[in-house]
Amino acid sequence: MTPDDLRKLIRDIPDFPKPGILFRDVTTLIGNGPGFAAAVRLMTDRVSRSGATAVAGIEARGFIFGAAIAARLELPFVPVRKPGKLPVPVLAMDYALEYGTDTLEVDPGAVADGASVALVDDLIATGGTAKAALDLLRQAGADVSRALFLVDLPDLGGAEKLRASGVEVEALIA
Ligand code: 5GP
Repeated sequence: MTPDDLRKLIRDIPDFPKPGILFRDVTTLIGNGPGFAAAVRLMTDRVSRSGATAVAGIEARGFIFGAAIAARLELPFVPVRKPGKLPVPVLAMDYALEYGTDTLEVDPGAVADGASVALVDDLIATGGTAKAALDLLRQAGADVSRALFLVDLPDLGGAEKLRASGVEVEALIA
């Protein structure tokens, strides 16, 4: 399966989570066995080529892809979590949403010193979520030089924002 085949497995949901937003729903892609396998394989190839020594995924859909990639490469998986989930003192970062703010958290001990971390999520839009995760992982001591997404929405400028922070950004589908 090619990235173009994968694009066809993503469902568009109008007016979710708010009126006027067209949500790209990957549930239909992960619900297709060969499609999910192809997405993980293509993303794994990119992480493998980058020489990363760990994979970080953003809760929740970034866990689906990030954990699968990490397991295929036998690399450690670092969960970037929603607030209140980790049972240890955390590094926390607030970030802006269209309305209001949200928070991500990382276990400061989750990243080995000098680890080269590939950041993974299902989709990048404005880049606010990925930038918060990047800042947190760097605070935890990671060298994050690469971020990988299944989908980039380039009109929203998130990938450019991450590149301005010194990260190489790739996506299977734009
Ligand atoms: P950003 O912070 O880049 O604006 O939004 C990206 C984050 O919100 C990601 O964690 C992603 O999972 C989620 N997200 C935003 N819009 C969509 C969408 O249309 N489809 C999916 N699957 N996730 C989205």
